[in-house]
Amino acid sequence: MIDKLIGFDTVSRNSNMELIDFVADYLESHGISSTRVFNDDKTKANLYATVGPMIEGGIVLSGHTDVVPVEGQPWSTDPFTVVEKDGRLYGRGTSDMKSFSAIALSKVPEMIEKGLSSPIHFALSYDEEVGCIGAPRMIEQIAANLPRPRAVIVGEPTMMDIVSAHKGILTLVTTVTGREAHSSLVEDGVSAVMVGAKLISYITDMMAENKARSDADCPFSPPYTTLTCGVVNGGTAGNIIARECSFMWDIRHIPEDDPMMFVNRFIAHCDEEVLPGLRKIAPEASIVTEIRSNVPALNPEDSGEAEMLVRSLTGKNTASAVSYAAEAGQFQQAGFSTVLCGPGSIGVAHQPNEYIDIAQVKAAEEFMSKLIDRLSQ
Ligand SMILES: [Zn+2]
Repeated sequence: MIDKLIGFDTVSRNSNMELIDFVADYLESHGISSTRVFNDDKTKANLYATVGPMIEGGIVLSGHTDVVPVEGQPWSTDPFTVVEKDGRLYGRGTSDMKSFSAIALSKVPEMIEKGLSSPIHFALSYDEEVGCIGAPRMIEQIAANLPRPRAVIVGEPTMMDIVSAHKGILTLVTTVTGREAHSSLVEDGVSAVMVGAKLISYITDMMAENKARSDADCPFSPPYTTLTCGVVNGGTAGNIIARECSFMWDIRHIPEDDPMMFVNRFIAHCDEEVLPGLRKIAPEASIVTEIRSNVPALNPEDSGEAEMLVRSLTGKNTASAVSYAAEAGQFQQAGFSTVLCGPGSIGVAHQPNEYIDIAQVKAAEEFMSKLIDRLSQ
C-alpha cells in the first residue's frame, strides 16, 4: 500500500484525484463507502470514510495526500517509486506522510475481521503542504455529518512519539508600490525595494523582541514566535528605482501568542510611520499586506482523550511540542481532542532521498493493530 500511494505524483500543485479514486475503490472493495470533499474547481479532493458502526466515540486517523516538490533536489532514485535499501523505504512522502495512511488503509481487512465496536474514520486531505488549505472543509463536514469521534490522530512523522503541541503558521504577502525613476534621480522616485528591505528588517526586529522575552520553559524549539521572510521579488534593473516589491513572510507562533497582534502592529507601522513619507513624493504609493493562509496552533490539552489513548497504545509517557505546523490545530479548533503520532522522521521530510525505516513501518503496523484490538473490545 505504501508503494501504491507513493506511486501517485501528488505534489501539491497537481491533482490528487487518482490517489483519492484509488483509495475510494479500495475501500469500496471492502464494502466501505467514502465521501469526497472537493476543492472549488474540483481538481482535488479530501476523502473521509468510516469503518465500523456509525456511532459516537470513534477515532479519526488523519493524513494529508499531498507531498512537496522534488525539483532541484539530488535524488538517487525515482522519488515516485518506492525503493527498498538497507532497511529503509525511499520515496517522496514515505515519511511525510503517506506511510501512515497506507498502513492504516492496509489494516481495513483486519478492522472488518475483528469487528469494530467503535468506528475508525479515515480523513485524507489535499493541500496540506501549501498551508493546510484542504482540510478545513472536510473537518467541517466530519463535524456536521459523522457521529462525534472522541479523538483524532494526525499521522505526521513523529517516530511514533506523541506530539501534543505544534506552532501555528500565518503566511502573508506584502506588496510595496513606489514610483519608478532613473536611479540618479532619487528625489523623484520611491524605491519599493528599499522600502521592502526596511519592512523586512522591521519583521526581523519583532522576532528579536520575541526571542528576548522568551520563556525557558516553553517546550518549542526555538521557544518563541518566529517571523521570517522567505521570498522577495522586486525591481527590473540596477539603474531603475523600483516601482514594485513584494515579499512573502510567515509567522510561526507559539499557542499563547496571537499572530494577528504582529500583523496589526506591522500594518500600523506601514500606515503610520512609513507611508506618509513615501506619499510626499508619490501620492500613489501603497503598502498592502494580505494573509495567504492561517493554520492554528495545536494547544496541549490537559489529560486530553487523544493523548491518553495514544499513551496507552504506545506505552509512552511523555508528549512533546514541535515547531512545524500541521492539520492537528484545525481539528482541535473544531472541538476534537487531537495529537500527532506517526511513523518516520520529520528530519528527512521535504529532503532529497526521503525515506522511512522499515522498523518504523512495523511500529506503526503494531500501533494500528493495538488500536483495532482496543476498538473491538
Ligand atoms: Zn506532513
